[in-house]
Formats: sequence, C-alpha cells, structure tokens
Amino acid sequence: MSQHYDLIAIGAGSGGLSVVEKAAKHGAKCAVVEVNDDLGGTCVNRGCVPKKVMWFAANLAHAQHDAQDYGFATVPGKLDWGKLVNKRDNMIGGITDWYMDSFLSEAGIDLIQGQARFVDAKTLEVNGETYTADHIVISTGGRPIVPTDIPGAEHGISSDGFFELDEQPAKVAVVGGGYIALELAGVLNALGSETHMLHQGFPVLIGFDSLMQKTLRTQMEHDGIVFNDTAKIASVEKQADGKLTVNYADGSTLSDLDQLLWAIGRKTNTDDIGLENIGLPLAPGGFIDVNEYQETSVPGVYAIGDIINKRGVQLTPVAIAAGRRLGDRLFGGMKDRKLDYSLIPTVMFTHPPIGTIGLSEEAAREKYGDAVKVYSTEFTPMYYSFVKHKAKTAMKLVVVGEDEKIVGCHAIGLGVDEMMQGFAVAIRMGATKQDFDDTIAIHPVSAEEMVTMK
Ligand SMILES: Cc1cc2nc3c(=O)[nH]c(=O)nc-3n(C[C@H](O)[C@H](O)[C@H](O)COP(=O)(O)OP(=O)(O)OC[C@H]3O[C@@H](n4cnc5c(N)ncnc54)[C@H](O)[C@@H]3O)c2cc1C
Repeated sequence: MSQHYDLIAIGAGSGGLSVVEKAAKHGAKCAVVEVNDDLGGTCVNRGCVPKKVMWFAANLAHAQHDAQDYGFATVPGKLDWGKLVNKRDNMIGGITDWYMDSFLSEAGIDLIQGQARFVDAKTLEVNGETYTADHIVISTGGRPIVPTDIPGAEHGISSDGFFELDEQPAKVAVVGGGYIALELAGVLNALGSETHMLHQGFPVLIGFDSLMQKTLRTQMEHDGIVFNDTAKIASVEKQADGKLTVNYADGSTLSDLDQLLWAIGRKTNTDDIGLENIGLPLAPGGFIDVNEYQETSVPGVYAIGDIINKRGVQLTPVAIAAGRRLGDRLFGGMKDRKLDYSLIPTVMFTHPPIGTIGLSEEAAREKYGDAVKVYSTEFTPMYYSFVKHKAKTAMKLVVVGEDEKIVGCHAIGLGVDEMMQGFAVAIRMGATKQDFDDTIAIHPVSAEEMVTMK
C-alpha cells in the first residue's frame, strides 16, 4: 500500500526544503524526495555557497597586494587550492549533514531517497515504491548546459565541474556572458589563473542596467581578463598533453588551456519526472507555467524555484520565499498568501560585486517613456586612495513621475553586496528620491553616495 502524505516536494533544494518545512510547522504530514545523496540542492552544493567561499578567497588575493600598499611588510602567498577546496567542501558537508541528521527529523519530515516520477496527479513512484499526497510540489531545479552540437565540447566542464576541480587551472577559458560565467571568471582571474572570456556579442549581463554592464566589463579588462566578443566556437580538441584547444569558426584558435568552462545557461530538471502522466505541458525551455499561487494547470500540483516560467527569478531566496508562502497558504490558513515577484533584489559576486533591484534605465524608459529620470554617480572609493589595484564604484537611481518614485537602484563596487538589502526594503516600501535625499548620510562610506546623488 502507498504511504500517504498531506504534501510531498520533489527535490530537496532551496524550494523543496522550504515548502515542507513550513507545511510541517503548520502540522502537515510531509515528505521530500531527493535523487542526490546530499540535501540542499544547487545553492548549497554547487551554487551560492561554494561560489561565495571562492569569492571570499579571491577578495583575499586582491587584499594581499592592497595590504602591501597600506604599508604592511607582507609577501603575497600562493594559494593552496587543495586546502581551500577541502575546507570549503567540509563546510558544505556540515550543512548537508545538518539537513540529513537534524533538520528533517526535528521538523518531522520524511526523506524519500531516489528519483521521483508522477504516476498520476496524486501519486509518485520512487525506486518502485509509490507514495501519494494531496499536494505535490515540483521543485526539481536545473542543471548546467554543455553544448551537444560542438565537437569536443565534452572536454570542457560546467559550473558543477568547477566546484570539483582539485587543481587550479593555470590557463582557463570561460564561455558565457551571464552572471555565473562572470563570477567564476572573476574568481579564477583574481586567484591567478590566466582567464579568457568567450562569448558572442557585447554586452555582458544582458538585461542589466547599461552602467553596470559597462563598469563591470571595463574593470574585468583592467584586471587582466581577456575578452573575445565574437567567439563562435567550432570545436574543442584535447591535445596529447591533456591541454585543450578551442578552434573558432574563423580558423583562429585558443590553445594550451587547462580548463574550458561552459557557463552558457541551465536546463530545467523537468524532462524525466513523468509530467506526461498528469497532462502537464511544459513551457518553452522546459519551464513550468504557474499562476500567482504557484499552481500549475493540474489541480493539487504546484511548482516553485528555478523551474517556473518567469525570467530573472532563478534565485535561492525566491525559491525559499515561494515555498514558505505556499506552505502558509495550504496549511497555515493564510488563504491569500503568495509571493510578489516584483522588486527582487540580487547581488552578482563579480569583482567588484553588483547589487541591483528593480528596472534598469533601459527597461524603465521602455515602460514609462519620458517620465523616467536618472541619477547616477561614479567614483573611486577611499579604500583605493593609495593602492595600485583600483576599482571604480558606479551607482544609479531610476525614478519615475513627478514624485520621483524609485523603480530601479543599481550599484557596482566595493561593498555594494552588503549595501543593497537595506535599500531594497526602502524601495519595496515605495521610497522616492526625496526620501533618499532626506536620509542623513553615513560618513565616510560608499553607501552615502546613494542618498546624496544630484
Ligand atoms: C554557480 C551558481 C551560483 C549561484 N549563485 C547564487 C547566488 O549567489 N544567489 C542566489 O540567490 N542564487 C544563486 N544561484 C541559483 C540558486 O542556486 C538556485 O536559484 C536555487 O538553488 C534554486 O532552488 P530550487 O529549489 O529551485 O532548485 P535546486 O536547489 O536545484 O534543487 C533541486 C533539487 O531537486 C533534485 N531533483 C531533481 N530532479 C529530481 C527528481 N526527479 N526526483 C528527486 N529529486 C530531484 C535535485 O537533485 C536538487 O537537489 C546559483 C546557481 C549556480 C549554478
């Protein structure tokens, strides 16, 4: 006989764990199905968390040189990549062990290990056993794409492979122009790898504010990253010594690469979960259409996280927030609880980082036309006054209408990663430029420029 639950989530990543946690807190009998040995999904194992560790290390690489310029008699040391990776993986092991040993049992949630497939809208099959639930949440996330139409592409690695590297590549090419490509290229470059970025067409970070795109690109080039903006890759070859050569369509080559890293997008894990058995069609790209309550077109089946058909919301806190709200609505008596997908703040851990919320200037002009006004500033933070390696900060406020309501806030530079969360609260509450002007600046910090722009 099948075991019956109030709610089952497929996938123990950011979204799945959040919805079962919340539902269980409200008294629901819950289970989560996970195909991997480790819980926590992409963010914990192959995304945000290990990436941030590498970003911290990259910052320290810069800081060692800066320290000399500040007068410290230090000699920048060579990174022990193996030591860093080992410590990072131990830290992640601690998180996944906690999920396995404490989180689930303390919350009274059952773990079903294996790959889930729908039998019907209320029944899942995992390893030959069936499990039924009144509510089933699809939270299967995604995986990185490696091209299938480029001969030799399999010699390259993806972002998953980046986190498995036990040696630092001396020379690396990163393919892509999105945030994952730019973040990993920035890390590798700062840690001392000769780094090439291959993508097709400026700008990087498509859809982001042009000031952020331009400032980041300039800084990355200044830091020594070599960009190829017309990189039509025809094939990849592995040489006898294990090094890789990229052959471009125009006959030129990039050789002696220790690694080639594909960061060209992600594919949803929706292709093998039996959606055909419940009559749930996929949107283009393998995404799942949901309404504002995370409901699919099949009653009792929901989708949250990276697999939903919304652009630009593939972020951990979004998956978590959607899961928690769904748990509240289904079992907490909060019948209207849902996630507002507008004004989602985010940070790119590039070098330097970018923090952003709301519309880019370009998107705002398209939406509001001449009602848009822009305030911006560019400066070199005081920290860099006497260090050789400098990085500019740029900030932009996009405002609309007579009352100059802020619809977009963008910043790139030292410290903006920790700056944006507070501004996001104000902007969500409807802040105007006048509210920012009326806020007393904190001095001397870069953030004060955000409330003193003219
Ligand atoms: C390199 C990288 C860096 C990132 N950095 C950030 C960042 O800094 N900040 C940020 O907010 N976001 C970041 N993200 C995005 C973030 O990781 C995702 O948005 C988030 O993990 C999505 O959560 P999810 O629950 O939708 O999916 P996931 O976390 O991917 O979880 C899905 C889970 O479902 C499991 N699964 C799949 N199919 C099945 C099946 N049939 N049966 C059972 N289990 C299944 C998978 O094994 C996985 O554990 C990053 C992503 C990457 C790749």
